[in-house]
Amino acid sequence: MTAFPLERTAIVTGAVSERGIGRATINYLAAQGWNIGVIDLDDARCRATAKDIAASYGVQAAGAGADVSDEASVRAAIDELEAALPQIVALANVAGVSSPVPYLEVDAAEWDRVLGINLNGVHYATRRAAESMARDGVGRIVNISSVSAQRGGGTFSKTPYSAAKAGVIGLTRATARELGEFNITVNAISPGPIDTDIMGGTLSEERKEELTRDLVVNRIGSPRDIAAAIAFLISEDAGYISGQTLNVDGGLYMH
Ligand code: NAD
Repeated sequence: MTAFPLERTAIVTGAVSERGIGRATINYLAAQGWNIGVIDLDDARCRATAKDIAASYGVQAAGAGADVSDEASVRAAIDELEAALPQIVALANVAGVSSPVPYLEVDAAEWDRVLGINLNGVHYATRRAAESMARDGVGRIVNISSVSAQRGGGTFSKTPYSAAKAGVIGLTRATARELGEFNITVNAISPGPIDTDIMGGTLSEERKEELTRDLVVNRIGSPRDIAAAIAFLISEDAGYISGQTLNVDGGLYMH
């Protein structure tokens, strides 16, 4: 089995949003010594975020803008990051969008937008990163699903989101099965409600209290709760965990 290289890079998509899970993840991973590749929609913000990370944590970091729903743009971004940074050992697919549209109002454009980013986007980044990981004989991939996949919505986003996030779980299991022979693990994290801006400013204090009533833990989640779980699943010691969905949701979904 190929050992983890000392100098290793984690690529994180959706890593720019100030209060988001991706941003918390790059901070958390850089603090552990990972070099960081930043992917998000805005190229300039990716580069600025990477600069901040390099200056704050003394690791190497680079950014490249890409729309994850566009395969060519994702491939170009990962090509660029791979040329600039040490070996890509990990990929965290965090980029995603919400979709609160009621089912009977969902048109083809909304369906395609949400599936394009939340499901195809995970596939495109995975497909490209896995090529490098398979060649190198080691890799860790973590995909962000949602409790919405397991409970059929029930928080902010509705059917297209739930379907895309359920697709992420199937994609995770199937790629875990196919990529295992290359010493690549693939896992999903299924967050419950997390205090970020993805719910379009609807996450008031009152709404947080309401959401907390369904949990067994007495608070809604923080981006750091998810970042820490990603860090564990991409660690060298997590190499015997693959194809799993880890619920980081305050106990919202138990099965
Ligand atoms: P966020 O809106 O803060 O972050 C999402 C990031 O993805 C942003 O930086 C955004 O620019 C980027 N992004 C959006 N579309 C993109 C595209 N086409 N290409 C590249 N980047 C794109 O939201 P967040 O809450 O941090 O969400 C992160 C992930 O966690 C998402 O996949 C989301 O579905 C998932 N999630 C969030 C919650 C929650 O309660 N916040 C719960 C379950 C799952």
